[in-house]
Amino acid sequence: MARVEQRMAEIAVTADKEQVPPAYKVLYDGQCEICQACVSWLKALDHKNKTICLPISTEALSACDSRLRIDDCLQQLHVVTPGGEIHAGWDAVTCLARLFPSTRLLGILGEWFPFRQAGRLCYRFVAANRYSLSKCRGGACRIAKPEAVRRQAKLSAFWSCYTLGFFIRLPLVLWAGIGAAVERTSIFARTYHQRLDLLNGRLVVLFLNGVLPNTVPLLFGELFTAVVYDGVAIDPGSPKMRRSLARHLRQAQPRIAKVIATHAHEEHVGNLNWLSELSGAPVCVSEMTAQFLTPFKKLPWVRATIIGQPPNLKPPYHILGETVDTESGYLQVLATPGHCDDHIVLYDPTEKLLLAGDAFMGSYFATPNPDVDSLKWLASLERLMELDIEILVEGHGHIHTLRVDIPDFPGVVIRENPKIAISQKLTYLRWLREQIAAGFQDQLPVRVIEASCFPWGQRTSWESCATDECIRLLSLGHFSRTELVRSFVRTNSEPLPTVYEVRISGGQ
Ligand SMILES: [Zn+2]
Repeated sequence: MARVEQRMAEIAVTADKEQVPPAYKVLYDGQCEICQACVSWLKALDHKNKTICLPISTEALSACDSRLRIDDCLQQLHVVTPGGEIHAGWDAVTCLARLFPSTRLLGILGEWFPFRQAGRLCYRFVAANRYSLSKCRGGACRIAKPEAVRRQAKLSAFWSCYTLGFFIRLPLVLWAGIGAAVERTSIFARTYHQRLDLLNGRLVVLFLNGVLPNTVPLLFGELFTAVVYDGVAIDPGSPKMRRSLARHLRQAQPRIAKVIATHAHEEHVGNLNWLSELSGAPVCVSEMTAQFLTPFKKLPWVRATIIGQPPNLKPPYHILGETVDTESGYLQVLATPGHCDDHIVLYDPTEKLLLAGDAFMGSYFATPNPDVDSLKWLASLERLMELDIEILVEGHGHIHTLRVDIPDFPGVVIRENPKIAISQKLTYLRWLREQIAAGFQDQLPVRVIEASCFPWGQRTSWESCATDECIRLLSLGHFSRTELVRSFVRTNSEPLPTVYEVRISGGQ
């Protein structure tokens, strides 16, 4: 995180040098939840980019203004105006408040007697006690004085700081939750019973619906799809989406010569035999997927009710080799454990197209299923980085590509280089790995480690907080941020996941 923030600081400083209207530089302590919460508000207020927020580091300070001293900046907020004036503490707060219409009055009042004196007094009190309120790991930043912070801060201080940070942001969290719900509903409506014919009909994406399955895209944003690529049908949905799939097949009548599943999750494998019988095409799955499907384990009731319990896989079926023939070429079959142990992806080296299934689910995915092994997932993504990928098709309705022969479809086609998307995911997973390993090394309770993986200073932590907690609640804990921590400490030999062992024995 330190590195990421430093990089952001460098970018911000460089951007600042190139910007035409000079901005106010705000130097804040990246390890203080209160500072971070205030910065979140500042970013929400600052539509016109009047400010640049820089977490304190020696490099950031020297690049910003040579008069700034790190010890002063760690004591209180510093703002450098475009004219080169330096404001500190309460005066910095009022200086910033004056910049935006909705807070201008507060900024002006804050400079008058007696508000100025009262404000300065309050600010000095908070600044003086800041280290007892803040704990370095909560800020997930080890730039400045981590030892001093750890020595002085108690765990209860961590929670009070984390909770305070949350409540300062609560209106923003709720607003972001509403925004995300509107966005999900809009994408759901636009993809309802839709079909995408791409690459002159070689790639067909069928959006699958069903009465209860529809709750998933509406509540969580995961769309259900089946893909037909060059005569190969991939992940044909669950029994509760069968009518939707049948309707698509009647309308599109794609040629299907093989039916393949990328992995044995219920929303991908429920119609394998059904589609095989309908189309006369054989089912091909990896050996491990076949094992998982014969018989298919009993699903937790929430998942069985909403998605549907898939039937067991019936023979005859084929076990996938290293490649699989398509109508006009072939696909490489690559083992990519991580999302689950049996996961495979299909790669067309000629088209530079990756059918990723659930091996890539956006660069930020914080509520995984209980069978995720993030360390294996990291290794799988590293292997995918070796491929030349121009089109990445996810298993839940997103396509990442810059290719112009894939038309725009907002919310579905994401205009980014797939390799950059994967590398961002890798950066995030590596940071999590480091954060979780450091947490266990410091013998922190698991709930603290979980909280430190979602510091409020990271925009994604609070922006997706409402959705993530909604997922935890509705899946009865099957998909949650806790699972993300657990996914890094999974070992094959232990009967109980380490996280729960620690939780039970630690009483946290
Ligand atoms: Zn899956």
